Amino acid sequence: MNRRQSLKWMIGLSVAPLTSRGIAWAGESAGSPLLKKSKSEWASLLQPAAYRVLFEEDTERPGSSPLDREKRDGIFVCAACYLPLFDSTKKYESGTGWPSFWQPLPGAVGSKTDFKLIYPRTEYHCTRCGGHQGHVFDDGPPPTGKRYCNNGVALKFVPRADKLPVLRT
Ligand SMILES: [Zn+2]
Repeated sequence: MNRRQSLKWMIGLSVAPLTSRGIAWAGESAGSPLLKKSKSEWASLLQPAAYRVLFEEDTERPGSSPLDREKRDGIFVCAACYLPLFDSTKKYESGTGWPSFWQPLPGAVGSKTDFKLIYPRTEYHCTRCGGHQGHVFDDGPPPTGKRYCNNGVALKFVPRADKLPVLRT
């Protein structure tokens, strides 16, 4: 291992524990997403239910989203900015009434701890627009043991054969 490789390795180590514990990504500061729009702009672009989840951190009623029962092969993109967030091969039936995944696409979501209920929970959001997606728990299936519990209204499903939407700007 030369010096550059070992440096990379050390940087990798210093970042990995942060992300796996669900603390904000290194380099990402909360509230400064890559795509910046005011709440009123988002409110004018999105359906009210989607806006409330994505930008007011609301939670949809369990079982209310057809995406909970979506079993086709494809990609789930952020309903606000269209960044691909999850692949259907990482989706599973959690029985909670919310679409659940055991892994997001690399770099697609960032997270922070919230205290909306009495106990702390790890919320996660789209790294591009900052839109709230759901909460991640440690009771998921192998290989990650994670359960990304997502609001269906914050996602759009794109079948594998279809073109992904152009990212919203
Ligand atoms: Zn987004």
